[in-house]
Amino acid sequence: MKQRLVIGNWKMNGSLADNILWATHFRHGLKSQTLQDVEVAVCPPFPYLQSIRSILPDIVQLGAQDVSSECIGAFTGEISVNMLKELQCRYVIVGHSERRARMGERDADIAEKFKLVSLAGLTPVLCVGETEQERAHGQTRSVISHQIQTVIDRCGAHALRNAVIAYEPVWAIGTGVSAELADIQSTHAVIRAQLSDNGLDADDVTLLYGGSLKPGNSEEIFSLPNVDGGLIGGASLKAADFLDICWAAQ
Ligand code: PEP
Repeated sequence: MKQRLVIGNWKMNGSLADNILWATHFRHGLKSQTLQDVEVAVCPPFPYLQSIRSILPDIVQLGAQDVSSECIGAFTGEISVNMLKELQCRYVIVGHSERRARMGERDADIAEKFKLVSLAGLTPVLCVGETEQERAHGQTRSVISHQIQTVIDRCGAHALRNAVIAYEPVWAIGTGVSAELADIQSTHAVIRAQLSDNGLDADDVTLLYGGSLKPGNSEEIFSLPNVDGGLIGGASLKAADFLDICWAAQ
């Protein structure tokens, strides 16, 4: 069986002290049971990456919530992929719906970020998903297909080998209402078919679900065919809940 992947995205939450406490609890929790066949990563806010790395055991990977589409220079406030590499990030989220909606990131910008991350040897986590309105208009498949195809056209299908795609219906993020199991399954199948049309095998790309994934629904979501793990926002903010989700992924 393919190794599952569980990623926690803390977004802009917690103080330094809160997040150090989280990492300390999580480290202790991991000692109580061996994690098998699951890779776990957390994406703290940028300023805390180094402190969190120093507390978590090496089996827990570090991820970044975003990256600049530029490499170096006069880009005030931006963080480059090489900086993330120096801070030992393994994963980099690109195209999260909050950045698409609130920072105006377009598919082309996201594809550029994806390219830089994969060229740097880190693993991009490409977030795709439809809004409530797009869903109501029956556009789920076309929206997701365009989001993925822009990356393939710009970076080449080979760049998706070993990458991660997170299907995150925007209307399910932070709402407490996750997508129906049948919808997750069918959307993941459509994504796999698109990847296959572009010459990629099922094992090449890790496919996550995200959107109100929590301890109470993680087991059934992880048991779906084509779901290789999860991207978790709100429920990753409590170390105990995130641990439960990691155990459920085994
Ligand atoms: C997310 O923001 O990527 C996410 C999945 O959030 P939540 O788990 O809170 O829905």
